[in-house]
Amino acid sequence: MKIISIECLKRVSRPIGNPTKPRRPVDAAAGGVPYPIHIYREFSRTDRKAVPGGPGGEMWVRITAEDGTYGLGHCNWGDLAAPVVRTLFAGLLAGRNCLAIEFLNDLMWRSTQRLGGTGIVSSAQSAVDVALWDLKGKLYKAPVYEIIGGPCRSEIDCYVTATDLDWAMELGFRAFKINNTAHHSDGTDGINKLEATVAAAREKVGPAADLMLNAVMSFNVDYAARVMERLAPYDLRWFEEPLPPNDTKGLMALKRAVPAMPLATGEDHRGRHMFRDIIEARCVDVLQPDIRWTGGLTETLKIYNMGEAAGLQTIAHSGGNMPAGQHLSAAMPEVRMAEYLMLSAPGVPLEEVNPVPGMPVPVNGKLVLSDAAGFGMEFRSEDFVPFP
Ligand SMILES: [Mg+2]
Repeated sequence: MKIISIECLKRVSRPIGNPTKPRRPVDAAAGGVPYPIHIYREFSRTDRKAVPGGPGGEMWVRITAEDGTYGLGHCNWGDLAAPVVRTLFAGLLAGRNCLAIEFLNDLMWRSTQRLGGTGIVSSAQSAVDVALWDLKGKLYKAPVYEIIGGPCRSEIDCYVTATDLDWAMELGFRAFKINNTAHHSDGTDGINKLEATVAAAREKVGPAADLMLNAVMSFNVDYAARVMERLAPYDLRWFEEPLPPNDTKGLMALKRAVPAMPLATGEDHRGRHMFRDIIEARCVDVLQPDIRWTGGLTETLKIYNMGEAAGLQTIAHSGGNMPAGQHLSAAMPEVRMAEYLMLSAPGVPLEEVNPVPGMPVPVNGKLVLSDAAGFGMEFRSEDFVPFP
């Protein structure tokens, strides 16, 4: 079955008829969430849209086969990724067999090695790859989780990433991740405040619940080690992404410094080779590829398989918030949880903030997938316009 078109699209949001009023605004963590650039005080920590290089700019890719069937996939940084899809991937893939996903990914991967290989081209490749899987599922009239070898479970346990932990608990979540409040440039004062935040969260969720902390690359090695030592009494299930993605040796140093605290990372690692490095170095315990960023579902399956062979879990970044992440989580034995990034303010049902029509939302902290073909998305053609 030949590919006849590859288009870059932008979502048009559907208005909700009668939206639920939140009980209170989202509890934006006081002081905001630091990213690496917040070593410079000129950048706001409370306005995520003001962070240069943040993952905005959602772009969808629609791939249409010669019989008119189409598949959809999405990525971020669309302004930068769209030119890669339009000027390189669309021409490279047009006219080829849409079912040959491994071959098409290899073409994309080999064609981009001279322009960086990872980074933004991985994001562009992600959207194309996920659209190919959706298309294949529709052509085979089967859910993607079946085509990739599942299902392995009938319901997916989710952990929630949230600031309003009481709202998350009310919704039935039993595992929680909170945001970091410190940048390494905040010094000891930052560690003191972070400890107070983690202590309050542990108090709220109780001693039995999984609790994780997400540092989003805001530390250096010395600071991360100090934070890990300080947070040891709070029994973190894992400490996430303390360092920028290329610092494998830094992660190895942290693993040696505080061996009892599990480390997770990967949302900013692009492609299987970056993951191979951290797997071989045995410096992390949980791999967290983001399917929209790392190269797609095909690349994530390769990462998963390397991790599984090394005894590591893969828990895709925001996997519970996107169809491909949900299908990976349903299909694979060592994907033991999915992350659900809380999108609703307290009191607003998750269905109202569901970004993808037809995609399930967690109920009592668990996701149950349908057997709809492809990723089961229920978009209408009027939901999209050409990406500008
Ligand atoms: Mg993270």
